Amino acid sequence: MKVLSDIEIAQNKKLLHIKEIAAKLGIEEDALEMYGKYKAKLPLTLIDEDKIKKNNLILVTAMTPTPAGEGKTTVSIGLTEGLNKIGKQAIVVLREPSLGPVFGIKGGAAGGGYSQVVPMEDINLHFTGDFNAVEKANNLLAALIDNNLQSSCCNLNIDSRTILWKRVIDMNDRSLRKITIGLGGVANGIPREDGFNITPASEVMAILCMATDFEDLKNRLGNILIGFTFDKKPVFARDLKAENAMAILLKDAIQPNLVQTLEENPAIIHGGPFANIAQGTNTIIATKMGLSLSNYVVTEAGFGADLGAEKFLNIKCAAANLNPKAVVLVATIRALRHHGGAKTEEINTPNLHHVKAGFCNLEKHIENIRKFNIEPVVAINTFVNDSYEEINFVINHCKSLGVQAVVSENWAKGGEGTKDLAHAVVKVVELNKSHFEPLYKWDMPIKEKIEIIAKEIYGADGVDFDKQAKLNLKRIDRLGFNDFAICMAKTQKSFSDNEFLIGRPKNFVVTVREIEIAAGAKFIIPILGQMMRMPGLPGVPASEEMKIDKNGVISGLS
Ligand code: ADP
Ligand code: MG
Repeated sequence: MKVLSDIEIAQNKKLLHIKEIAAKLGIEEDALEMYGKYKAKLPLTLIDEDKIKKNNLILVTAMTPTPAGEGKTTVSIGLTEGLNKIGKQAIVVLREPSLGPVFGIKGGAAGGGYSQVVPMEDINLHFTGDFNAVEKANNLLAALIDNNLQSSCCNLNIDSRTILWKRVIDMNDRSLRKITIGLGGVANGIPREDGFNITPASEVMAILCMATDFEDLKNRLGNILIGFTFDKKPVFARDLKAENAMAILLKDAIQPNLVQTLEENPAIIHGGPFANIAQGTNTIIATKMGLSLSNYVVTEAGFGADLGAEKFLNIKCAAANLNPKAVVLVATIRALRHHGGAKTEEINTPNLHHVKAGFCNLEKHIENIRKFNIEPVVAINTFVNDSYEEINFVINHCKSLGVQAVVSENWAKGGEGTKDLAHAVVKVVELNKSHFEPLYKWDMPIKEKIEIIAKEIYGADGVDFDKQAKLNLKRIDRLGFNDFAICMAKTQKSFSDNEFLIGRPKNFVVTVREIEIAAGAKFIIPILGQMMRMPGLPGVPASEEMKIDKNGVISGLS
């Protein structure tokens, strides 16, 4: 039998009208802001704090991933189908894909196989325009800054060499990383060095995802630190009276988007910050919307649990007072082989020895989740080349740690393949096994918070602060931002800041090179190693495989 591609599976599905999906959540058609037949925005008035407290939030995260991704999105969608199949009311709440990876190396981010959210093409492409709105709000601020440099009437005395704010575009385009703008003489602006980041790396995206309502969004936009004056005073977006105009551009983007899964269950897709340099989870508003509408909410945080889950728990849940009831740790046999020393060309070949050697990586993630007083469930996302010996080894070893590990066949079978996982998750929730506590309090000193994350989560012996990082710490103190959360920027490939240290590295220190401030998002970003804010395209980009026929039917989008 021919194996269908993701897009073929998605295109074969006859979708329900979005009003029918909304009806399953008790939402009247009138309340929907429809974007065609299969997408709708949900009004913020549906958010209900009492229901949020009563309903159950489940986080899906993963062991340290290989570049292909270990299946968090597909497991999140599959688990939602499985929960509905066993009679629970469940919704999945995810991030919006970024166009850069779609056309670059990773492909789409709407799930895969028989665990997908649909309409797949729309979700992966322009969707409801939220990314575009974020980009425009970001670039409006950039234009206002350059206009102010040029202005004779209201010049804020900004030292153009200190400007922190970059322009953004949602594309992998390395040639925009460093550019010169304002060339061409007196009428064309003040020349200066500038650069582009990719849209999911914009602080506006981080703010959209942290905002609790429209007023909060506006305040946070006003608090963005854009640079310094010649006499070293900070300049904020509010000094340029930018926050209202930026918020106007985001007035629709703040509303979560409702779509459906392949099994006609509701899905909310909203916001899309990267997980290596931003918080890597959908909007607080979307998560709260899910919890207002459904008994179980399944959500995903980007990359491995050392990045995505740590930030989800310490930043998002702490800020929004959310109380996750269980964490699903996605593991794959291929990632275990990788962490056990398998070479790239060996990771798809059964090898019990490699799996045994790589288990230490999963074990450390299990220990870490328990540090938050949350009980993990391991989902083994199985691939065709996994052997029974390898799978059984993982199940038994998890058992010896007191953790239930369940095979998840969501990719091949949808909800039918995740009933066991759904039962395991429900058990953790119903037995009330989790009592979430963040790992640090926001009012601790910045250095201490960074050290807690590095030692407790990464397993580091300590943290070195480079000269630049020390200067940045002084600046943070001077500006009064000590009580911000910490949003670590680190490689996703290792617990450490060295991507080549696989498994469970020991006897290492991490180095903070510099520390950035996201004053609107209310977090401090320690940069460990080189962080990419504008990815490049690979030698053969995914775009080369894509086709569209005369009827507008797309193929090759995966
Ligand atoms: P993550 O969210 O962790 O980055 P995804 O769920 O997006 O990972 O999965 C990454 C890719 O791997 C997707 O293209 C998905 O279709 C594919 N994939 C996931 N699970 C399986 C599986 N069990 N078998 C085959 N392909 C899979
Ligand atoms: Mg994903």
